[in-house]
Amino acid sequence: MSCVNRNVLVIGGGISGLAAAYALRDVAKVTVLESSDRVGGKLRSGSLAGFSVDVGAEMVLARRPEAVELARAVGLELVHPATTSAQVLVEGELHPLPGGTLLGVPTEPKALVGLLATADLARIEAEAEGQFPPLTTDVAVGALVRERLGSAIVDRLVDPLLGGVYAGHADRLSLQATVPGLAAELAKDGSLVRSARRAAAAARGGEGPVFATIRGGLGRLPEAVAEASKASLVVNTTARELQRTADGWRVITGPTTAPVAYEADSVVVAVPAPAAARLLAPFVDTSQLGAVELASTALVSFAFPPSALPAASGVLVPASEGRFVKAVTWSSSKWSHLPGDVTLVRASVGRAREVRDLQMTDEELAARAGEDLRALGGPTAEPLDWIVTRWGGGLPQYGVGHLDLVARVRAGLPAGVAVCGAVWDGVGVPSCIRSGQQAAMRISASWEQ
Ligand SMILES: Cc1cc2nc3c(=O)[nH]c(=O)nc-3n(C[C@H](O)[C@H](O)[C@H](O)COP(=O)(O)OP(=O)(O)OC[C@H]3O[C@@H](n4cnc5c(N)ncnc54)[C@H](O)[C@@H]3O)c2cc1C
Repeated sequence: MSCVNRNVLVIGGGISGLAAAYALRDVAKVTVLESSDRVGGKLRSGSLAGFSVDVGAEMVLARRPEAVELARAVGLELVHPATTSAQVLVEGELHPLPGGTLLGVPTEPKALVGLLATADLARIEAEAEGQFPPLTTDVAVGALVRERLGSAIVDRLVDPLLGGVYAGHADRLSLQATVPGLAAELAKDGSLVRSARRAAAAARGGEGPVFATIRGGLGRLPEAVAEASKASLVVNTTARELQRTADGWRVITGPTTAPVAYEADSVVVAVPAPAAARLLAPFVDTSQLGAVELASTALVSFAFPPSALPAASGVLVPASEGRFVKAVTWSSSKWSHLPGDVTLVRASVGRAREVRDLQMTDEELAARAGEDLRALGGPTAEPLDWIVTRWGGGLPQYGVGHLDLVARVRAGLPAGVAVCGAVWDGVGVPSCIRSGQQAAMRISASWEQ
């Protein structure tokens, strides 16, 4: 195969598109078109009290190979949390986040003593002994768990844990797309608790720390990958239209009065759902893709004078607690590599369909988040510095039937076009990297046909 004379355009310079560019580095000339002024998308560093901190994604699952291998391959050093023991707020009290659950779905009722009423615990025990038909259709995680195990476990654990990943609501998120291991087990034996036990045992595999980040911040990964990919980076350039040419593809950028065209043999579309739906609409029905709901959130990052922090990685705050923040990370407790000159904390605000809080000014957001931090055991001193980072439409919501939706769009893609990114194959950084790598493989495979 002689492919080095092939040209590929990657639309979108987030980690998915950059992973695709890196995977294609030895077989094609790659150009990445990025609409903002920097690559990285949701991986971004910001400056806080003179220190560089992550103001988007901050860590990756280390038990999956994709992110850790890519980081090492581009010469970055991985570090692991000093503690992963988180807390959850229930009826105003902080409790250790119980182990032995699969995104909050229990495997052992005893782990939940103190968090649930005796009647709820008995219900979980009874479900583990019951007979239920295998579940083969997709359902909302929250609806299934509520029906089988009661509402308390959903409100106190499942919803905040799923919310921590998707900024969404368990009652609207797809079981098959968000907890695929559990869905696969439920298709064999319909008991939720027994299925969670088997799925948790299968997921437990692997050795070493569960999470990792990069010394200096996860925000360093995109630039390092971009550089190692040898791709040409074209920033401040929005792809407006994708056109088929006689022997490949053309991407139209620039103002409508002075369009600028880029041509290539193949295209990787690595942009969020709304932009992907627009670009692909001439070739495949993307109406449902364009309608995928997006959750908007904001992160408030604080630097305090050196202060004592709870000895936990952070706190999950269920929506039912009625607080402003949805989660808090005690960053200086969680990561021992962070500078000791300041105490760093971050708080996340906003969930899918709850944008009212995000309409506040940055000052109001920081003040409200600061009040919650103090109430949850955080520093009482005035912050030395804070920054608000808004992630409008930052996380796609995998509704019931999401996997069918993405399979349908993918099946209709024209040859020479591949897609990747958070809406397709999982929102976590390792999933996005794998998605980009697979898009690159599809493109190379199309040249061999
Ligand atoms: C606040 C927040 C915290 C998170 N924390 C974590 C975490 O700790 N760990 C984890 O694993 N995951 C985390 N995630 C999820 C994860 O970071 C994202 O799902 C992932 O980074 C998405 O990567 P992507 O490349 O698919 O998309 P994006 O990062 O959205 O990149 C897409 C890029 O395409 C560009 N673009 C859009 N339209 C066009 C166009 N028309 N033409 C050209 N360019 C275009 C955008 O500017 C952007 O740079 C977090 C997400 C958010 C929002």
